[in-house]
Amino acid sequence: MLSPPVPLSTESSLSSPCRKRKRSDVESTVASSTWSSSLFSRKAKQNIVERNGGEHCWHCGAGAPHIAHVIGREDGSFRDYVASGLLTFDHLGDEQNGLPLCPSCHQAFDDLNNPGLIFIPTALDYFIDFEVKDYQSRIEIAQRHGDVPRRLVPTPQMYSDYLKREGLVSSEAVGGLYCRYTLRDFFPIHVVKSAIPGLGPFQEPGLWCGAPMAALRRAFQIIGSLQWWESQNLN
Ligand SMILES: [Zn+2]
Repeated sequence: MLSPPVPLSTESSLSSPCRKRKRSDVESTVASSTWSSSLFSRKAKQNIVERNGGEHCWHCGAGAPHIAHVIGREDGSFRDYVASGLLTFDHLGDEQNGLPLCPSCHQAFDDLNNPGLIFIPTALDYFIDFEVKDYQSRIEIAQRHGDVPRRLVPTPQMYSDYLKREGLVSSEAVGGLYCRYTLRDFFPIHVVKSAIPGLGPFQEPGLWCGAPMAALRRAFQIIGSLQWWESQNLN
């Protein structure tokens, strides 16, 4: 849940040194609250590991996984996305935003200037169709009632249910299906290159229990960078 907003004093009430100290205290409290809600709790980490393949890197299969933030703490648009209804969680430390990655993959994933990997839902048409229908529904409701309703986006469960209805995963599968792309060779030199997802034969999609909208946000963030187009030699 979102932390309750800390009330801020008005500008005119901040003129004295005493008031300024209080404002500083308030800003510190807000920053601390935002930071703490971005961290994964011990329980969240445990659940993320258990629900996403165990003590292995979700991308390359190596051991000793970290828990990476899919939407990173440096993403200044997070609050705007939450407010717009484009995400299915409201703090960065939510289990839906966690991905088990080994140290090498974690570092490459977090490097927005030179990204090493991304992952996107395999069934992109589902998300496009969902948005088209939701857009039409919001227009019709706005025309009838005057107010534009909040956007709706697929939850992890909705995406998983769709894949099962379409027979794209087994009925026992847990999570949604994602394509994984290795954008550059960031792996240690002793790693067998044929085992690198995206460059070798291990290109099958992976199941992930997190929020598909978080994966899409991250992918758009990277695809929008010049480095992506240079790495793909498409510019
Ligand atoms: Zn890895």
